Amino acid sequence: MDVSVFDLFSVGIGPSSSHTVGPMRAAYAFIDLIKTNGHLAKTDQIHIELFGSLAMTGEGHATDKAIILGLNGYLPETIDPGKMNAYLSQIRSSKEIYLGGEHKLSFVEERDLIFHKGKRLPFHSNAMKITALDSSSRYLFSEIYYSLGGGFITSHSDQKQEEKQECNSLFPYPFETSRELLRLCRTNGMTITDVMMANETKYRSEKDVKQELLHIWHIMQSCVKRGCETEGVLPGGLNVKRRAPAMYQKLSKMGKNIAADPSLIFDWTSLFAIAVNEENAAGSRIVTSPTNGASGVIPAVLHYYQNFIPDYDEEGVIEFLLVAGAICVLYKKRATLSAAEAGCQGEVGVACSMAAAGLCSVLGGTVHQIENAAEIGMEHHLGLTCDPVAGLVQIPCIERNTMGAIHAITSAKLALMGDGNHSVTLDEVIESMYQTGKDMHPKYKETSEGGLAKFVQKKSLINADTIPYVSNLSPKC
Ligand code: SF4
Repeated sequence: MDVSVFDLFSVGIGPSSSHTVGPMRAAYAFIDLIKTNGHLAKTDQIHIELFGSLAMTGEGHATDKAIILGLNGYLPETIDPGKMNAYLSQIRSSKEIYLGGEHKLSFVEERDLIFHKGKRLPFHSNAMKITALDSSSRYLFSEIYYSLGGGFITSHSDQKQEEKQECNSLFPYPFETSRELLRLCRTNGMTITDVMMANETKYRSEKDVKQELLHIWHIMQSCVKRGCETEGVLPGGLNVKRRAPAMYQKLSKMGKNIAADPSLIFDWTSLFAIAVNEENAAGSRIVTSPTNGASGVIPAVLHYYQNFIPDYDEEGVIEFLLVAGAICVLYKKRATLSAAEAGCQGEVGVACSMAAAGLCSVLGGTVHQIENAAEIGMEHHLGLTCDPVAGLVQIPCIERNTMGAIHAITSAKLALMGDGNHSVTLDEVIESMYQTGKDMHPKYKETSEGGLAKFVQKKSLINADTIPYVSNLSPKC
């Protein structure tokens, strides 16, 4: 299967690509399917069952809302995030939905949307089954969907089809490993950007590829701007205050004179990441890159490039995104972008690896230095768990993106200081990440049953000044 850079960077809504964007697309796809099969008019009830990580953290990740909106014909790329709550209130108060925006039926959420906590389907942890019934509660049609991370979905039927089909690539320069990518560059005298552009222009003109990539960049910029301007408390009940506006005010006074204070680079880059991830946590418009939980890393490093590298231009942004996309293709094909499969290695780790490669390229890195940068970016995220407190994409997710962004800059710089020769290959680190993910206990894979999700006390988040600290932990000498 060919993976386009536009599959990897898609415009969506927060807070989660696997738990919000994917399920909304799946619900929309199901309605499309029953329309095609002629079942829409006969459908009188819709039942949705969630399994695995979708059931465990779906409420905190707004999976329920996403599915309801998807059934009503909304898609993450086109829905107006500012109107989502109004649509939902209307649906929930009337207890009626309009399938595909046209066929009205009763929808009682407690009855029709079931969270099977503790149950998992074999193929993937993020699974949902949707069933259509007629007015006599007779079975009409059902499908199982899997949300694979990064907003990608597949259905049980698609899986069976894919198993039968040969994998035919239409790209002129297909690759599955970094070894193959480096060989393509060497034998054809191409850069990674050239390879990616040649592949993308199989489906659209070069002008359109560039315009679309710049559109993605402009959405990232408006997301940072909104995050820096929007005050308040994030939804979900943890009482997490948005930090970006105050940071922005403070940093604006300090300026960007890195000759006077080089550490300003860390402060500004952290701000850019926090601004995006606070917008994501608020369910706003963001670019999935390559997931929503990790959506701050790439915009933050691009903003670093724009603000602190004198040679910045839009051609550089296009190059950055194509190279980052090439690295993501490797993770998508050889491992996973899903925290339910690999923990946070598969989200912030991958975003860091992508951003390191993109930055290394625009700073003049060779293909071997770029591969090295991507490798360093992941190597030091190996073993990173996913343990979001209360199932919300807030703690540790928002701050973690600042770490991913700074780490990406360091990785690119380290690679640029070498000559491209290094001991660990990108393929080896991708395999290590995937196997580590497989070995990781499920409580650290987006189920909110371990780590911070278990040990952070909700009450201490509400008002740290007035609530006495009571430790969950056994005292140690
Ligand atoms: S801990 Fe990492 S993988 Fe888990 S929800 Fe947060 S950002 Fe995503």
